[in-house]
Amino acid sequence: MSLLALEKVTKSFQFEETQVTVVKEVSFNVKPGEFVCLVGPSGCGKSTILKMISGLIFPTSGRIIYDNNEIAGVNQRAAMVFQSFALFPWLTVRENVALGLEAKGMMRAAALDKANQYIDKVGLDGHEEAYPRELSGGMKQRVGLARAITVEPEVLLMDEPFSALDALTVLNLREEVIDLWQDKEIPLKAVLMVTHSIEEAVFMADKIVVMSTRPGEIISEINVGLVRPRNMKEERFQNITDIIYSLIVQKRD
Ligand code: ADP
Ligand code: MG
Repeated sequence: MSLLALEKVTKSFQFEETQVTVVKEVSFNVKPGEFVCLVGPSGCGKSTILKMISGLIFPTSGRIIYDNNEIAGVNQRAAMVFQSFALFPWLTVRENVALGLEAKGMMRAAALDKANQYIDKVGLDGHEEAYPRELSGGMKQRVGLARAITVEPEVLLMDEPFSALDALTVLNLREEVIDLWQDKEIPLKAVLMVTHSIEEAVFMADKIVVMSTRPGEIISEINVGLVRPRNMKEERFQNITDIIYSLIVQKRD
């Protein structure tokens, strides 16, 4: 039983006179309880795939099935974390986090109250009234995470969430996201995270879906099978990383 299934999904965009295919016959699924990483080079259509799963754009052909129904509009059961954080600079941390709930029709007072709970979960306790400009990149992305999980989505979609952050912050945030994922109080069923870092995918995912350069096609699916917490220096970690690198290199040559 899969929660989310892509079936031969193709997406083309019109460029002046020509149709350009950016995603070609992509099929994979995400099961309940799975943390899946989608890995591929820049421009292979990863963000396009997340937008289709969000129901913001639609496949040119093929289908995306969410919980037995084809996605036909905005997917209310998914929430997104963006590389660029996408915070409103004129709103406080608490207001930014509450925004998703208010958009879903929750009264402001209740939304702000619920936001507090998730601000604590991402380690921003005490920063509720701060504005984004007062925060470091890592803290901004914690706000982005809190905003996404506050609406209690079934699926968390993350689009290169750590790409704009410094290396040390990235190491911390990867572990914190895994902690949130393993937190029984958060009713998340699955995570689909896009990254261009193979090491990051091996560190975080249960399953890695590897894509080729444009048009993005699936090269391979790898089950990681390492226990958490994972250690990047461990031999088995290195072996899986090497396998994925060689798959990508073979495909390129
Ligand atoms: P990735 O996230 O893997 O870097 P994207 O999904 O952002 O890749 O983009 C894949 C390709 O599709 C890029 O070449 C991009 O320019 C093109 N593209 C994305 N969205 C549109 C659009 N709305 N119109 C035309 N081309 C687009
Ligand atoms: Mg992208």
